[in-house]
Amino acid sequence: NDQSFKVPRHPSEVNWAEHFPAVAKNPEAKLEVENVDVGCGFGGYLLKLGEVYPDQLSLGLELRDKVTEYVADRITALRAEEGGEGGEGKEGCTYENVAVLRANAQKDLPHYFRKGQLRRMFFLFPDPHFKASNHRRRIISEQLLDEYAHFIRSGGRLYTITDVEELGAWMKSHLDAHPLFERVGDEELDGGGDEAAKFLPSASEEAQKVKRNEGKTYRSVYRRR
Ligand code: SAM
Repeated sequence: NDQSFKVPRHPSEVNWAEHFPAVAKNPEAKLEVENVDVGCGFGGYLLKLGEVYPDQLSLGLELRDKVTEYVADRITALRAEEGGEGGEGKEGCTYENVAVLRANAQKDLPHYFRKGQLRRMFFLFPDPHFKASNHRRRIISEQLLDEYAHFIRSGGRLYTITDVEELGAWMKSHLDAHPLFERVGDEELDGGGDEAAKFLPSASEEAQKVKRNEGKTYRSVYRRR
C-alpha cells in the first residue's frame, strides 16, 4: 500500500546523518535541509539543485515507493562515481548534499521541518487532478499554502511550473491571494538573478518531456514576505 510507510513523530527524530552521511561527518557543515523538491519524481531537478547550491542541503519528497527507490539509487551511484578520487561531477558536485525521502507532502511536512527552516520549496509539474471534485487533492491550496509559508523563511521562495494552463492559473490565483506570498516578476527571474528559476523548464524529467513535445509552460515564483 502506497500510504503505509514510517513517518517520524517530530523533526528532532529524523536521523539526517543517514541521509547525508558525508555532510554529517564534516563538523563545519550545517546538517539542515534548506531546499525541498515536492513530488520530485525521477529526481532530475533535485540533482540540479545539488549542483547549483553546493553548500546547501536539498531534499526530494516523493510519494511513490518505487520512484523514491529509483532516485535514492541514482544518488548513491552518483556519490560513488563523483565522490572518489578524480571524481567530482558537474560544478564539482559530489551529490552528498542531495537526498530523497518517501513522504506524503500533503500530510508529513511538520514531521520533517521546523518553522522558517526552508529557503526554497519547489512544486514542479504537479499532478493536475483535473476533475473539480478532485481539486481538493491539488498540492497548492489555501490551506497548504499556510503550511508552506510556515516552513519557508522570510525572503525565501516558492516555485511552481506546469504545462497545464488551468493548473497554472489555479496556482497563480491561490498564491496571489495569499497574504504571506508576493509574486517575483519575470524581469527578475529571466534576468538571471535566480539560479533555481533558470532550470525550472528544463531539469526535471517532466520538464524534458514537455520540452520534447514543444509544450508551453506556466511558471509562478513567489517570495515569502
Ligand atoms: N516534479 C517531477 C518532475 O517535474 O519531473 C515529477 C512530476 S509528476 C507529474 C508528480 C509527482 O508528484 C509524482 O511523482 C507523484 O508521485 C508525486 N506526488 C504526488 N502527490 C504527492 C504527495 N502528496 N507527496 C509527495 N509526492 C507526491
